[in-house]
Amino acid sequence: MAGRTSTIKRDKTPKEENPFDVARKQLDEVASLMELEKPVYELLKKPMKELHFTIPVKMDSGTTEVFDGYRVQYNSALGPTKGGIRFHPGETVDTIRALAAWMTWKCALLDLPYGGAKGGVVCNPQDMSDAELDRLSRGYIRELSSFIGPNKDIPAPDVNTNQEIIASMMDEFSKLKDYSCPGVITGKPVSVGGSIGRDDATARGGMYVLRNFAQKAGSSLQDATVAIQGYGNVGSHAHRLIEDMFGAKVVALGDAEGAIYSGNGLSYEQISGSMENPGVFSKEVEGTELLGYGNEGNEKLLELPVDILVPAAIENVITEENADEIEADVILELANGPITPEADHILKDSGTLIIPDFLANAGGVTVSYFEWVQNQTGYYWDVETVHERLDKKMTAAFNEVYEMSADRDLTYRQAAYVVAVKRVVEAIKFRNWV
Ligand code: GLU
Repeated sequence: MAGRTSTIKRDKTPKEENPFDVARKQLDEVASLMELEKPVYELLKKPMKELHFTIPVKMDSGTTEVFDGYRVQYNSALGPTKGGIRFHPGETVDTIRALAAWMTWKCALLDLPYGGAKGGVVCNPQDMSDAELDRLSRGYIRELSSFIGPNKDIPAPDVNTNQEIIASMMDEFSKLKDYSCPGVITGKPVSVGGSIGRDDATARGGMYVLRNFAQKAGSSLQDATVAIQGYGNVGSHAHRLIEDMFGAKVVALGDAEGAIYSGNGLSYEQISGSMENPGVFSKEVEGTELLGYGNEGNEKLLELPVDILVPAAIENVITEENADEIEADVILELANGPITPEADHILKDSGTLIIPDFLANAGGVTVSYFEWVQNQTGYYWDVETVHERLDKKMTAAFNEVYEMSADRDLTYRQAAYVVAVKRVVEAIKFRNWV
């Protein structure tokens, strides 16, 4: 499953949103809620550092292609910056800025000793061989080698960067330094310093949050129906865990190829067993209904009358264009930024409950933090320890968001922002930056 990528196409929204505008609008809202003073707001509304560079790569055909690479370190008040690397044909520097801002709030909310960062390369990994991807990954890290480091900025996987790519990046950095440096990047395979439990950590963390939420709401997840958009690392593990942990029914699944539905439930065993064959989500299979090919299927999946909708692909999939059509009671945002601020308001008015991305999907970076701690100390934990500590972290963050939301009558997203931004502001003040 590690090699599969999450590839819902960004061109699905009729009106293109700039994700950094979205991130700024969210911060503006919280700045007025918290009455942030102007210099603090000025500092938080833009990245502290950025690196833009080119990466020439020898292709298998013998020609050379030049790729654009970026790394954005948004804010380091809480510690070295942390965040993944995306390989995506539609990558833009503003997308990376937005994602770096969200990493800042995510690390702060989970009370990790990290600031936020994100990186990316404009490329289409689906069109590249493994050898070309290896050369691109190594080239990316070479250009970044003085900008990152275990105590400076620690990358990780994100859209289209699997553990093989992360291993190449760690190896290249270690070769440049001339000593093994596992703590420079997280999401590594276990055999080269990765943590047990990192592979399903994002989805698992989301499940702990969902469980806590259901407990507070007094509802059982056993009879819940679920639709999942995206079947990369996060979506596929979410499918398995929703079945295993709660016995809930996943009735719809989709990826870039299309989406399928079955009122009786799509079993993880059956779907994961057929993932090696192409076009699983764009075929009429016995007992399942094809919702549609590509974007059409995905639109229909988002609009299904399910109890829980799980966007687990990319940003901006629920906008003001389709928010009115969403019928799910709860949206668990396992993707980063799947709902625009305009759609957020529409969904709030219609009573849809949103468990926001930087709480719901923080399990990945939390186990990345555990991985980094293990790398720095050289002592490796067992899977029970990882799960127990992840649950503790996710539950603590959930409780803070829940209490803040109840105390101040805020949505979960607003409450998560207030808890996170407060932490970053306190660190900025103690450092005397403002
Ligand atoms: N890319 C993941 C995220 O958006 C993980 C980041 C990390 O592990 O540092 O949270």
